[in-house]
Amino acid sequence: MTTHTGRHFLQIPGPTSVPDRVLQAIARPTIDHRGPEFAELGLDVLERVKPVFGTSGPVVIYPSSGTGAWEAALVNTLSPGDRVLAFETGHFATLWRGMAEGLGLEVDFVPGDWRRGVDPQVVAERLAADKAHSIAAVMVVHNETSTGVTSRVPEIRAAIDEAGHPALLLVDTISSLGSIDYRHEEWGVDVTISCSQKGLMLPPGLGFNAVSEKALAAAGRARLPRSYWDWTPILEANQHGYWPYTPATNMLYGLREALIMLEEEGLPNVFARHDRHAEATRAAVQGWGLEVLCADEREYSSVLTAVLLGEEHDADKVRHIILDRFDMSLGTGLSKLAGRVFRIGHLGHFNDLTLAGTLAGVQMGLELAGVDINPAGLSAALDLLRAE
Ligand SMILES: *Cc1c(COP(=O)(O)O)cnc(C)c1O
Repeated sequence: MTTHTGRHFLQIPGPTSVPDRVLQAIARPTIDHRGPEFAELGLDVLERVKPVFGTSGPVVIYPSSGTGAWEAALVNTLSPGDRVLAFETGHFATLWRGMAEGLGLEVDFVPGDWRRGVDPQVVAERLAADKAHSIAAVMVVHNETSTGVTSRVPEIRAAIDEAGHPALLLVDTISSLGSIDYRHEEWGVDVTISCSQKGLMLPPGLGFNAVSEKALAAAGRARLPRSYWDWTPILEANQHGYWPYTPATNMLYGLREALIMLEEEGLPNVFARHDRHAEATRAAVQGWGLEVLCADEREYSSVLTAVLLGEEHDADKVRHIILDRFDMSLGTGLSKLAGRVFRIGHLGHFNDLTLAGTLAGVQMGLELAGVDINPAGLSAALDLLRAE
């Protein structure tokens, strides 16, 4: 094994690199989760987290991965046999569909080519055709982390409204929250699902559900079995800054610090930074003469870029060379895309030189793997970084 020095480059699209400030905030004595000091922390994070979701309503925080928060959204709002509309945008959308089926829901799964997001036109057509209003929810992955494609949630909302359909809108923002523009309330989302280890710059371990009034009302009628994920006792205990069970105390210290960092930078600046780094990344990819997987420029992800290689190259071989030589982790191609793409994460705790280093490592790795690229790709990105 090669000995590496300096910091590892964790350029996968989550988990992302955790800022020292957050690590230090977590490294504190664990306190009594039923004591008065805890209530202050609880009330503080429950309030501070709301602007990141763009909501003034409740945000439920679980000690869980994102997958747990997916389940929470479904079991709190739906009943056995309910129909839901979902879209094959990539690996994560497919996993979420599998969960919905496993829970006893009937999923209308609109096929896709893993290069595009949810088509608002198809949402409008499917809902208009559902005259009986038997579709109870529309499930959308905002940023499909397996493909680097961002679906246009406001247009999807408009399509639901245009059809005059009462379905709930459930949106997975697991890899978009705190990185790209998102507005739970303004966009009329009913449950926004997220977790800690991507744009929020935390280690894995917290899951989130932002909940609309309509979703709360649906929870009163929903009959899927639920216990641990049940919003009701959590929201009750949250009134006083507590949880009905032991919350992830130290992760909440970290969450508070990460939220303060996002406040300090200002969300509009956070979003602009991600857009700019994504644009520079695409300039490098296109400069190399390679293809960005996302096929529609309105859906380019500012969180990550998936790079498509020709059939003659194995993307995992490129990743292994880069890990071995330059100590950088890149995202692998998931399921259908295995060996075909690698993914560059440019989200979270990240700056111009992190991107410059990342792209330099990718360029050298491609060259070492024998991929025929134009080395002007890197300078195309640096030109953009230098410009502002
Ligand atoms: C990472 C991810 C998930 C899964 O989250 P876990 O924390 O691994 O359970 C789901 N959806 C999207 C879009 C993701 O990026």
